[in-house]
Order: sequence, then C-alpha cells, then structure tokens
Amino acid sequence: MKEIKELFPFLAVPKKIVVTMHQKPDPDAMGSALGLYHYLKLKGHDVKVISPTNWADFLKWMPGCETVFDFESQRSMCIEIMNQAEIFFCLDFNHFSRTRFMESILKDLSCIKVLIDHHREPQTEVFDYGVSDIAKSSTAEMVYDFIVDNEGKSLINKDIAENLYAGVMSDTGSFRFSSTTASVHLMVAELKGFGFEHAKIHTALFDNFMENRLRFIGHVLSHRMEVLYEYNTAIIAIPKADILKYHIRTGDTEGLVNYPLSIKGIEMAALLIDRDEERKWSFRSKETFDCNSFARKYFQGGGHYNAAGGRSSDSVEENVIQFKKALKEFLSKQQPI
Ligand code: 5GP
Ligand code: MN
Repeated sequence: MKEIKELFPFLAVPKKIVVTMHQKPDPDAMGSALGLYHYLKLKGHDVKVISPTNWADFLKWMPGCETVFDFESQRSMCIEIMNQAEIFFCLDFNHFSRTRFMESILKDLSCIKVLIDHHREPQTEVFDYGVSDIAKSSTAEMVYDFIVDNEGKSLINKDIAENLYAGVMSDTGSFRFSSTTASVHLMVAELKGFGFEHAKIHTALFDNFMENRLRFIGHVLSHRMEVLYEYNTAIIAIPKADILKYHIRTGDTEGLVNYPLSIKGIEMAALLIDRDEERKWSFRSKETFDCNSFARKYFQGGGHYNAAGGRSSDSVEENVIQFKKALKEFLSKQQPI
C-alpha cells in the first residue's frame, strides 16, 4: 500500500469513484463516506456511495444519505457501478470481509483501491494507496486531513462539516475518549465555522428513537445483564425473542454495550445480539483490556483497543459459555485488569 498522497495526482482529473464503508454503518462510517463524497463531487468527480447493508434510521438526516446505494437491496445496480469504478475508497474498515456480500466482488475489481481507516491490523496488501492510523479518533478526522492535505480546505462546506462532525463526535463518545486530541478540537472549531448547529446533530443521533427502544433497554438491563465482579466484566446477552417482542431494528442497539461500563469497577462490557444471520458481539473497555485482541482470538472479529466486535454461528447460550471460558483464559495470560 503506497502513501495516500501519491494518489493525489490521479485526482487532478475527473474520475469515476465509488466510496464504501463497513456493513451496518455507524455515524463515523456514514459521515466519513458522505464527507468524502461531497468533497470529491465538488472536485468534479463522478462519485457514488455504496453501503454493504442497510443503515439505521437515525443516520438518514445526514446530508447526501438519500443518494447512498444499499448493496443488499440494490445488488445488480451496485455491481454495475462497482465494475465501472476507476477508484474505490474503503472507509472505516480495513478488511474486505467487513463489507459482507460485497467482498467477493470487491476483491476481484482491478481499479485503484484506497484505504482510509483507524482500526488495528489492516489488510494492507489488498489496497493500492491508503492511510491507516490507529491513533486517529475517527475516520471522519482522517477524511478531514485528506481534504486539507489535498489542498481542498477551501471546498469544505456545511454538508461536509455536518457529516464529519457527526462521525468524530460519535467515535469519540461525544469527545470523552482519550483519542480526542487537541487536533480533534481544532478541527471541530474549524468545522463549526460553517455554521451548523451541533446540538441538533446530537439530538438527531441520540434523542431520536421510539418508546419501544427505551423499554427494551430497561428490559435487557433488568433481565439480560450478568455482572461478573470477579472479572470486572459485565455481559448482556439478548435472545431473538426480545428483539422480536420489542420490534428492535437496525440501530436500536447502538450504544447499549456502554451501559455496564457505568457500574463502578466494571472495566469491560460485552453485548451479544441474536441476529438472523449470526450472533453478533460488541466489546468495550475502559482502560487496559485489549478488546481487539480478544475479539480476534475468540470471536472472528477485531476493531480498536477499547472497542471491538465479533461474530459466531453458535447459539446464544453456547456463546455465553464460550465467552466466560475465553475471558478467564485471556485474563490469566494478560496483565490483570
Ligand atoms: P461495534 O461493536 O460497534 O459493532 O464495533 C466496534 C468497533 O469494532 C467498530 O469500530 C467496528 O468497526 C469494529 N468491528 C466490529 N465488528 C468487527 C469485526 O467483526 N471485525 C473487525 N475487524 N472489526 C469489527
Ligand atoms: Mn470509526
């Protein structure tokens, strides 16, 4: 993978460009993709954004979101667009498997593939150009750097600013995680100059759910959370019946994994959701528990040090047993948390 600045000469003339992100995009995946989309369009390129799957309703206000293609429901059109691409940007993921059913097509494309991402252990051999930096707060921040380095700062507008703000705000836990450097605040100060109302973005992302979601959270915290004080860990395992009973949809479980971390002494939280196609794990930690290594070693996943995800095809009950066994083994080999 060559340095991303070596790509800049290719962007001097209009190109057919596709931007994609990880499946079930979160605000950083969607915000960085749409921020880049608006920028590249202003530079005169023909740009399309394709999401590997559908996305949560709370992302639908994001400027440009209405133009995003859904690979799962618009498969043949997406394949046609992908086949015409000259440059393919991959944002907020670093392994093709994170694009789900797009993977088999993506890996055979002969166009230029570009990575912009902040997760651990990138698959650098599959990208032609890129930047991978685990110290970065968010992919949105990296897209901002990309725009500035590409001498495009004068093209930043309100649409770009809102998308990048949503991404960085979300991935930094509203600017509380240690990844929130001085440069993040300086960037946000610059973006604020474009006149968007940040309070409205917080409301759109966090205070925009249906009553059923809050009742669902109450239910799972009361009945599905187990606190393992001896391991400073809490686990929430949600069976399919709960998902159906409370009419839970894509995005409704976003942030749920963080709740147990508010318990004094709890350093690691795990959330297991029984999805149609798989059992999906989310892991979060406060300090010295390496979620990325844990997810990679035991649950076919990965991510960041303090936030990672994984999956399994086994049942919820089997997963809980495997988790406890894995935790015990992992902690006995790691520094104590
Ligand atoms: P979440 O728990 O919100 O799904 O994911 C937490 C973080 O880990 C996100 O940054 C996400 O991109 C990453 N992540 C989630 N699932 C996986 C996975 O299966 N593989 C890898 N490599 N990263 C994941
Ligand atoms: Mn991210």
